[in-house]
Amino acid sequence: MKKELQLQLSPAEAYDSDLFRETVLKRLKLPVADPQIFARQTKRSIDARGRQVKVLVEAEVFVHEPPTPLLEQGRDYPNVSLAPQIIIVGAGPAGLFAALRAIELGVKPILIERGKDVRARRRDLAAINKDHIVNPESNYCFGEGGAGTYSDGKLYTRSKKRGDIRRIMEILVAHGATEEILVDAHPHIGTNKLPKLVEELRNSILQAGGEVLFGTKVVDLILDRNEIKGVITQDGEKILGQGVILATGHSARDIFHLLKSKNILIEAKPFALGVRIEHAQNLIDRIQYHCEVDRGPYLPASAYALVHQTQWQGKQRGVFSFCMCPGGFIVPAATSPGEIVVNGMSPSRRDSKFANSGIVAAVELEDLPQYEKYGPLAAMMFQAEVEQKAWLAGGQTQTAPAQRMLDFVNKKVSADLLDTSYQPGLLSVDMDTVLPDFIAERLRQGFKAFGQKMKGYLTNDAQIIGVESRTSSPVRIPRDRETFEHLIIKGLYPCGEGAGYAGGIVSAAMDGERCAEKLIEQYVRTGSRN
Ligand code: FAD
Repeated sequence: MKKELQLQLSPAEAYDSDLFRETVLKRLKLPVADPQIFARQTKRSIDARGRQVKVLVEAEVFVHEPPTPLLEQGRDYPNVSLAPQIIIVGAGPAGLFAALRAIELGVKPILIERGKDVRARRRDLAAINKDHIVNPESNYCFGEGGAGTYSDGKLYTRSKKRGDIRRIMEILVAHGATEEILVDAHPHIGTNKLPKLVEELRNSILQAGGEVLFGTKVVDLILDRNEIKGVITQDGEKILGQGVILATGHSARDIFHLLKSKNILIEAKPFALGVRIEHAQNLIDRIQYHCEVDRGPYLPASAYALVHQTQWQGKQRGVFSFCMCPGGFIVPAATSPGEIVVNGMSPSRRDSKFANSGIVAAVELEDLPQYEKYGPLAAMMFQAEVEQKAWLAGGQTQTAPAQRMLDFVNKKVSADLLDTSYQPGLLSVDMDTVLPDFIAERLRQGFKAFGQKMKGYLTNDAQIIGVESRTSSPVRIPRDRETFEHLIIKGLYPCGEGAGYAGGIVSAAMDGERCAEKLIEQYVRTGSRN
């Protein structure tokens, strides 16, 4: 017999597995000691609106019958070593999931990645943090797993495609993520667990006969009139395939320059830019969970999501929190020397004493008239310039410019700064010298409004660190809505965040799957191209 129920539980009842079982079975008047009764959670979300934090749980109980399997997706992939091949550029979430989907459909992926494998990549991250050396081929954005590897691993997406999301989650679980990600309303994996998971995704690709080439940068495209035949790597090697999925992420500026130089249609795209803010996690917990001392042993580090519409010089733009990392670290996410870019990540336990979040203002193309001369690269050139300014202001290392929050709002340079999770260190700077006016003024308005929404948020015990600029791609590579093929170049499939069709790990992974399906449907299955 299977019973399903919805419960409002205390944090201890929801997060302590023994107590959960006991609570559920007692409510159903079932014997707690019976080993043939199995209880599990299927959904879990925190409701912190009232003074007492509740956890809303959906549960299943199997009484004297085996529980139904949790996963439909496994790791049974067909061997594709002799199958027709497609090229996938970029081994981020989009590229990895495109490769796995291609294999499922009986096609061999050649996955080309400029960066190193996850393990080798770790040394380059240490070099950025400790020695301020940015390797343009191996950093927080480039390398196996893409920008998703050394990240928070938040798996939340606004997409409504529930079935597709579940599929991605199950594939992640089949490759080592915990089953909790199938349950939590805002699941996350954590940067300590992501490298192994990414390695397992690669192992599935290799075991099925796919190819993964690290340290291989695509520097040119092989075109025959308006049709792509393959790519050329930095060593001059030509790699041919029946179609190319371009999943190079939002930081591959050289790819955007290449497309423009070859007159391949690309467009400037609005994005968002601002700073990362760091508070003590305990302060955010006390605000969000209404607790006096701390969140206690069961509740996870609390998160927040804030948005405010600002007015400046007659234009309305949103200011919003972005990629909030509870219990996390701020990391140097630059992809070239001579720039500062910050982002956030957190370990699976989210147990650092800091809470950080991007706070960014929307940037529309009409805000950038002086960059119009760059055509489709207008927003990207603006983004690059602000990052260079941050580098100059920070002292031309990865030390980042920073200012206490209230000081920034009151236009006062901070006499000193707070302890931080940002390893390369901070320098007290007037952030108005780094941020364009239209961003700084909107951030001020946003901070004041956020202080109203979350009492205690607007404080000089928080600091802003610049700049948070890689929020989404500043360039779109336009594709057909139905076929996903580039609007002009046949056989080219712009994919993932870099092309402007995803934002975040899960949506990039979903887009990777769709691109593989569309390409294979069009070129490999129909045989319309040889
Ligand atoms: P990417 O992950 O950017 O991958 C692109 C890949 O292409 C890279 O590996 C790159 O090296 C490779 N490449 C680029 N150019 C070339 C070339 N010329 N030749 C060969 N290879 C090339 N998202 C979330 O959903 N949750 C989070 O918690 C989260 N935290 C983040 C934390 C950090 C620090 C960062 C930087 C990002 C975070 N993100 C998070 C964003 C997320 O990582 C991206 O949205 C996602 O990785 C995009 O996937 P993608 O495959 O489209 O591109």
